[in-house]
Amino acid sequence: MADYEVPQVTDDITTPCLKTGTMAHMAPYPAMPKHMEPFGFPGERVENWQQKGVEKLGELLKKYRSLQVYLDICVKCGACTDKCHYYLGTQDANNMPVQRAELMRSVYRRYFTPAGKLFPNFVNAVEFDEETLGKWFTYFHQCSQCRRCSVYCPFGIDTAEITMAAREIMNAIGVGHKYSLEIVSKVHEIGNNLGIPKPALKGTLSFLEEEILDSTGHDVRLPVDQEGAEVLLVAPSADFFSEPHIQSLMGYAKVFHQAGISFTVSSYASEAANFGMFIGSYEQQRKVAMRVVEQARDLKVKRLVVGECGHAWRVAYSFWNTLNGPFDFLDPRYPAPQHICEFTYDLLQKGALVLDKEANDAHVVTFHDSCNVARATRMGPKAGGQFEIPRALIRAVCNHYVDMDEETIREKTFCCGGGGGLLTDELMELRIKGALPRVTALKRVMEHDKVNFVALICAICKAQFTKILPMYGIPMDTVGGVHQLVSNAIVLGAKKGVI
Ligand code: SF4
Ligand code: SF4
Repeated sequence: MADYEVPQVTDDITTPCLKTGTMAHMAPYPAMPKHMEPFGFPGERVENWQQKGVEKLGELLKKYRSLQVYLDICVKCGACTDKCHYYLGTQDANNMPVQRAELMRSVYRRYFTPAGKLFPNFVNAVEFDEETLGKWFTYFHQCSQCRRCSVYCPFGIDTAEITMAAREIMNAIGVGHKYSLEIVSKVHEIGNNLGIPKPALKGTLSFLEEEILDSTGHDVRLPVDQEGAEVLLVAPSADFFSEPHIQSLMGYAKVFHQAGISFTVSSYASEAANFGMFIGSYEQQRKVAMRVVEQARDLKVKRLVVGECGHAWRVAYSFWNTLNGPFDFLDPRYPAPQHICEFTYDLLQKGALVLDKEANDAHVVTFHDSCNVARATRMGPKAGGQFEIPRALIRAVCNHYVDMDEETIREKTFCCGGGGGLLTDELMELRIKGALPRVTALKRVMEHDKVNFVALICAICKAQFTKILPMYGIPMDTVGGVHQLVSNAIVLGAKKGVI
């Protein structure tokens, strides 16, 4: 692997000096016609791309009223400037949320406001030209759509929505991002982001059944395509093949087993993640999620449970009901969909699980709130459940738990640096630098409180941190899932499950 410059970690997160263009070289690989055309996007940049791009912006302004509001109401107060992890890690002015949004606002002003049409130079309105498009492609792929900036904006301006719109416009003129489009294609062709075919999926799950039998003596099943199961478990495909993700998958299976609730995985809808969001397409979000709904009907399940994946839960919680619902064919006694943490927590409340906390005594644990879960969803019946339920679960299975600095957790959490479709090797420099705020807060509790395990509920966070933390001198096995800890602590066969 190439050598990367890893930022110096200090004891506190500090606002760096502003620099111009430090990340101007960091654009993702462009999509080729074979990535674009299956989605109905032009295979390459269309001849009249400037006109088409402006027309598409006009269409989105009419379709999404929030976009027009976000472009109109910024007062340049500066409250968001130092809130983005990519700005804190790169110092690049265009990674300040207000400046990132300005890349679109300046075009909006030029074509959609009287002042911008008549006196563009006075209002800093710019043409949608080659230079502007280059900046869009670069810097709207340096935003992970994490929404941290919106928490601090007095008007709640959501830069993530502006980024989504920019990506939608670029796709419409034939300028796409290879990585995210390739992933959505794999879901349509094979059923999951990693392109795992059915025989390989079945083989892995059988192997895990043997693993659990060997290590516990209990015959815990991980069924595939089992019609009539109570629950359809929709997990991120990384849970089937990657470490440490697979440890959480074994944890989910043990919970279902111990509670006496039958479940199945689907080979057709073997993916919870939904990169439709990362290409800015609600239509693709709907199509990817529709596979899950079709399988839930075909397999005649009564409940839908989503595994540990941040943006998957964001799409499921915030969009499934409107894009793919209603879920009136499921059991109305349970939320549809339901997060695996909520599912396990509910069983804990009912006394259906016996846990041996000492099994995790080697760990001093902290929790990284996934940005998508924290700021775009809820979990359970109460406000803030998305913060409290994972923590309650961890505390139920561990004796030693420490939170990171308040300014870096719950709704103020930092993105891991690899979200929003940026978890690709050509953006490695951005991923390393974007992880700096989280690494700073993590190192602090590692040094002050002897934390040696960061628990996660996001497949992207797990993949990003296992690669990036070692570059900062933090061992890879510091990273794991919440249900990995549950898996360690659950006492199989200790008590009959209660539903
Ligand atoms: S949404 Fe997140 S990544 Fe994008 S500008 Fe805001 S803070 Fe930065
Ligand atoms: S905090 Fe909101 S209003 Fe202030 S500069 Fe940022 S986006 Fe604009």
